[in-house]
This record gives sequence, structure tokens and C-alpha cells, in this order.
Amino acid sequence: MKEILDLIFVGGGPSTLFCASKLDNKINFLILEQGKNLEKRNKSIRNNSSEAKSDILFGVGGAGLFSDGKLNFCTDIGGNPLDVLSQGRINKITKEFFDKYSITPLKAGNSNVKIDKGKNLVFPQYHFGSDRLRAFILKLIRPFEDRIVTNCIVKKIEKERELFVVYVNGAKYKSKKVIIATGQSHFDFPTEVAKSFGITITPAKISIGFRVEAKMDNLQKYFDIQYDPKILFETKYGQVRTFCSNPGGHVVSEEKFGFSTANGHANYENKTIYGNFALLLKIYGKERIIDGCKKLSQDTNSKLIVENVVDFLNGKHSRKLQIKPQHNNYVTGLKFEKYFPSEVFEGLKEALWSLIKIEPGLTKSILYAPELKVLHYTLNVRKNSFESVEVPSLYFIGDSNGNIHGLWNAIMSGISCAEELKNEK
Ligand SMILES: Cc1cc2nc3c(=O)[nH]c(=O)nc-3n(C[C@H](O)[C@H](O)[C@H](O)COP(=O)(O)OP(=O)(O)OC[C@H]3O[C@@H](n4cnc5c(N)ncnc54)[C@H](O)[C@@H]3O)c2cc1C
Repeated sequence: MKEILDLIFVGGGPSTLFCASKLDNKINFLILEQGKNLEKRNKSIRNNSSEAKSDILFGVGGAGLFSDGKLNFCTDIGGNPLDVLSQGRINKITKEFFDKYSITPLKAGNSNVKIDKGKNLVFPQYHFGSDRLRAFILKLIRPFEDRIVTNCIVKKIEKERELFVVYVNGAKYKSKKVIIATGQSHFDFPTEVAKSFGITITPAKISIGFRVEAKMDNLQKYFDIQYDPKILFETKYGQVRTFCSNPGGHVVSEEKFGFSTANGHANYENKTIYGNFALLLKIYGKERIIDGCKKLSQDTNSKLIVENVVDFLNGKHSRKLQIKPQHNNYVTGLKFEKYFPSEVFEGLKEALWSLIKIEPGLTKSILYAPELKVLHYTLNVRKNSFESVEVPSLYFIGDSNGNIHGLWNAIMSGISCAEELKNEK
């Protein structure tokens, strides 16, 4: 048993790091992170070893370290930020962030694009680029680096009178407050903590689909809409959205929950001649989707399935791929449809047909499957502080909150939580 701390963070991703960077230095806190420190995290996101794939998500900097660093300044995406942050707080944080880091948003998008049964959200965006994130995070954590404990997985949290007891690999810490910031890498952790404290949870939808890749020449109309187009299609089977677009970028595979899924990113410099983006359907029924992903990973030995987009649309097997996949951890000959309920691929097909009307170049693209975004159950937290309404002094920030997801929302939740903690003193 160690000294009694004021505050413990579980997880060292962007939500935690921005929160910690704003705290008064009189607050005695520790960050417990299950992964490696920044220097030891794999330098190459495109290495296909299991260790590298898990390094994409775990370690200081969280999923944010190898992310694309795209910031979407819009309250209509990334969950429901206005449920947990007031508009006034969002405006204040945004202004201070722009001033501090000299952010000038990218050029405005094209709002005149006609979408068949859907809408096109156009708003300010910013792209850091994966190649600029390591240096950025190193600078951010310098003042509190000695408070980060790595290779330290939190197994359980209990309450002992006024204090929280946090159990890690054979040891335990006591703290007055705990902030859960475990992201999406362990989707069950925040809900297990919530359940153990009797916190009310509401089931959320899961997003399943694939990542499309094509030569930039065949994606020009799509990328003319904006840097990261946010098109929402209302299909018969649920909402399908374009997500995480990376002009001049790379496709990667990450390992979470014991299987491989696709993702993508782009550097600020050194662009490729390829672009990629995800197409995802929101659906209830987490278990059947996870089971499909696990089965797919078993059949492919933890690789991704690659098909031509036109073959997927026409229910055919891809004999010869339209382009050489830029990511090399894949198999061909298997069909995405085999692993998921029909509403998944029918919904995605319906959206793809609409998207092809905007960007005919997609007929020359390939897809990597599966891509999966797991939203947590939503938890009831106080606006701006992210403190559980039911368990005082227990907080849920970033992707672990369930009401919000994405980098900018994670950053805002951390900064806002720190402001409320400072006000309490
Ligand atoms: C390749 C890639 C590209 C992306 N690009 C973008 C983008 O451009 N824009 C965007 O908005 N979003 C992007 N994202 C998503 C974005 O990175 C996340 O939304 C963001 O990092 C969430 O921050 P967080 O602090 O909530 O959690 P995370 O960044 O997920 O960090 C959580 C941390 O908690 C640790 N942890 C988990 N469980 C435990 C435990 N029990 N004990 C101790 N530690 C634990 C994990 O190791 C991890 O380091 C991308 C993600 C990836 C993987």
C-alpha cells in the first residue's frame, strides 16, 4: 500500500494527457497505463506483428499516438458531445486551443453536394498528421512524465469508505478520486467498473463496415467535398456514414479484443498516391458483430479480407484486384458477407451505390474488412465535469465515456474535467 493520492487516471490516452496538463501541480496524481512508454512504443504503425498491432492502441498517448490527428470541430459527430459539454465550454476550449497551438482550420468544405437519402456535414477540420504526434505528445507530458506508471494494468476498482482502491498487477493504490480514461481498447472495462458500482448504463450501437482504398485520381470528387467528408446515409438497414478519410494516406491493421480490424491514417508530409476512408453501419447487437469479427480473424489467421468494391456490390468473388493493396496483411477469396448479418452488408451496399453517384472512381477501389468502432454503453455523467451522477469522485472521460468519441472530443473532455477539478479546490 502506498501513500493516499488525490487522483488516479486509468489509461494514458489523449483525454488523460490533456486533463493532466491542465491540473494544478499541487494535485498529487498518478497515471496508470497498461502499455509502454512513448519511446518504447513501436515506431512503425505498418509493421504487422501482433506486438506492433497492439502498440497502435496501448501505451502512453493511447490510440491518439498513431492516430491521424484529425480534429473535427463539430457537435453533430463523435457521439453526442452536447449531452456532456455545454456549448459555452466547447467555445472556450476551442478558442484557447486554437490560440495556444496556432490552429488554422482547413479550407471550408463544399456544402452543395447532393446526397441520395442522406446529408453531407460540412464544418471546420484540422489535420495534425501522424508524423507530428509523437513530438507533440512528448512536449505535452514533459511536466508530469514522472507521474506516469507504464506496464500497469488496472484490474479492479473498489470503494473503501471515502477512498477508492485501485488494484493493479499485484499491488494497490488508494485515491480520493479516480478518472476512467481507457478508450475503446477495452470496451468492457468502463462498463465493468460502472456495473460494480451500480451505475446505470444504457446500451449503445456498434459501428461495423470496411475501409475503402483507391488511387487519389479516383477519389478526387470525394475529397473535393472536404478533407474528411462526413456523409450520413439513411438506409433501410440503419445509418451508414463515411468515417476517418485519409487523402494521401495508408491503411493499417490494429489488434483489439483479440482480432484484427482495419484503420487508416495519413502523414502531414510524405503523402502517398492513395486515399482511404471507412464506411460504417450503426447497429445494435454487439455480441453477434464481435463474433463475426472473431470468426473472420480465425479464418484469415488475423488478416483482413480484401475485395473489389464492385464485386462486393454485385455479390461476386474478386478474381483480380482493381489495385494492388497498399497494406499487405490481407487475404483474398473470402467474402465479407459470410461473417455478418444481412442487414450489415445490405445497408453498406445501399450507401455505396449512393456514394458511387458522387464519386464514380469508387468502381476502381478495393475494400478491407472488417473495420469496427465499439461505442461503450452510455453512462450518466455531470455536464462539463464528467463525474458520475451516481458515484461522486468517479469520472469517465474520452472514448470510455460512451456519450462521445474521437480525438477532439477526448481532448475537450479532459480539459473540461480539469477545469472543474480546479474549481473545486
Ligand atoms: C490508427 C488510428 C487513427 C485514428 N485517427 C483519428 C483521427 O484522425 N481523428 C479522431 O478523432 N480520432 C482518431 N482515432 C481515434 C482516437 O485516437 C481516439 O478517439 C482517442 O485516442 C481516444 O482517446 P482516449 O483518451 O479516450 O482513449 P485512448 O486513446 O484509447 O487511450 C486509452 C488508454 O488507456 C489504456 N488502458 C486501457 N485499459 C486500461 C487498464 N485497464 N489499465 C490501464 N490502462 C488501460 C490503453 O492502453 C490506452 O493507452 C484514431 C485511432 C486510430 C487507432
